[in-house]
Amino acid sequence: MAGAPAYNDSKDVVRITVLGATGSIGQSLADLIERNPDRFEVVALVANSNADLLAEMARKLRAGAAILAEESRLGELTERLQGTGIEVSAGEAAVLEAVDRETDLVVGAIVGSAGLKPTMAAIRPGRRIALANKECLVCAGDLFMARVRETGAELLPVDSEHNAIFQVFEAERADQVEKVILTASGGPFRTFSKADMAGVTPEQALKHPNWDMGARITIDSASMMNKGFEVIEASHLFPVSHDQLGVLVHPQSVVHGLVQYRDGSLLAQLGSPDMRTPIAHCLAYPERMPVPVRRLDLAEISQLTFEAPDLDRFPALRIALDAMKTGSGAPAVVNAVDEIAVAAFLARQAGFMDIPAAIEAVLEQLDSENALAAVDSVEDVLALDHLARVRAAKWINSRCS
Ligand code: NAD
Ligand code: MG
Repeated sequence: MAGAPAYNDSKDVVRITVLGATGSIGQSLADLIERNPDRFEVVALVANSNADLLAEMARKLRAGAAILAEESRLGELTERLQGTGIEVSAGEAAVLEAVDRETDLVVGAIVGSAGLKPTMAAIRPGRRIALANKECLVCAGDLFMARVRETGAELLPVDSEHNAIFQVFEAERADQVEKVILTASGGPFRTFSKADMAGVTPEQALKHPNWDMGARITIDSASMMNKGFEVIEASHLFPVSHDQLGVLVHPQSVVHGLVQYRDGSLLAQLGSPDMRTPIAHCLAYPERMPVPVRRLDLAEISQLTFEAPDLDRFPALRIALDAMKTGSGAPAVVNAVDEIAVAAFLARQAGFMDIPAAIEAVLEQLDSENALAAVDSVEDVLALDHLARVRAAKWINSRCS
C-alpha cells in the first residue's frame, strides 16, 4: 500500500522523543513518522553507538537533536550532521537531558535494563509514554508504575501482546475480567526436544518464524523467556492477579492477546505480525491512523492453532513466572543474567540451555545471600542488576568454554 494517504486530521502536531531510535522498534516507528511528516515533529532521537544510522535517521526525520549514549562516537556523529542544524550530543547526561526537552510523546525503545533510567526519567505530567522497553516493568515494575501514577502520565503499551490486551481490556470493568491471555509463537524450537535444543546455534535461534526483531528479544523468544517477561510486564500494566494471567502458544502469531470476561466472552485482537500496528495504535490513540501493513486474509490463513506452553522444555518461561511470584529483586536478576547469557550464547561462549541454567544458578546464589530482598529505588535495582551480571559472567566463565 505504497500510496496510502498521509495521516492528516485536524489535530496539532505531536512532538516525539525516541529512546532507542536505531533499533528494530525505532525503525518501524520511523517508517510511520516518515509517512506522516505533517503529523509529527521529532524533538530528539537517542541511540547507543551507531552514529551512521542515527545521523541518517535524524536527517530523514528532520530531528531537532541526535544523541548517542556512547561518548566516544560524538566526533563521528558531529561530522555526519555538519551543516544540518541538528543538535548533537553524547553521554549519559546527554541522554537524560534529552528527556528534559519539551515533548508530547516519548517512545521507550531501548533494549535491556539500560533503558531503565532514561525511560523512568521521561515520565512527566501530561506526557504520553509509549513503552516498548519491557525491562522497565520486569526490573522495576512497582517503581515505574508508581511514578506513572504520581505524575499522571499516560502509559501506552507498544509490546504487541500488551497492546492487543489494552485494546480489548475494558478498564472500567476490570472486576469483570476473569483472565488475560498472552499468545506466544513458540519460536523456532517449538517442536524441539530439550536434547535438540542443547545443541542449537545462534543462527537457528535468530530465525524467528514470524517476527523481525532485535537480536536479544529474538533469542528470548526462542527460549520463551520473552513470554515470561511479558507476563511480568502484564502483571504491572493490567489490574489482575498473577493467577489470572495465562500464556497460549499460537504458532501463526495472528491473535496477539485475549481477555476473558465473566460472561464467557473472550475478546481478542488480531493482526499481521508487524510492529507498526501496535506502534501506530500508541501514536494515534485513541484515533486510528492508516498503516500499510499486510491485511489479514483469514480465509487464506484458513486455520489458527493453539496449544498449552511446555514449561519443562522451556524452563526460561517457568523461571520468569516463578520470579514474578517471588517478586522484589528476582525478576531484575532474571533479566540481568539473561542479558549476559544471551550475549554469551550469541558469541558462542555458552549453549542455548545454559541460558536458563545460568539464571537459576545466580538466582539461587543471590537468594542464599539474601540479596533478592526489597528493591526500593532505581539505584537499588541497578545495583542488583550489576551484581547479577558479574555473577552471571563468572558462572559462564567457569561452566562454559
Ligand atoms: P534493538 O536491539 O533492535 O534496538 C535497541 C535500541 O536501543 C537501539 O536503538 C540501541 O541503540 C538502543 N540502546 C541500547 N543501549 C542503549 C543505551 N545504553 N542508551 C541508549 N540507547 C541504547 O531492540 P528492539 O528489538 O528494537 O527492542 C527494543 C525494546 O522493545 C526491547 O525492550 C524489546 O524487548 C522491546 N520490544 C521489541 C519488539 C520488536 O519487535 N523488536 C517487540 C516488542 C517489544
Ligand atoms: Mg511481545
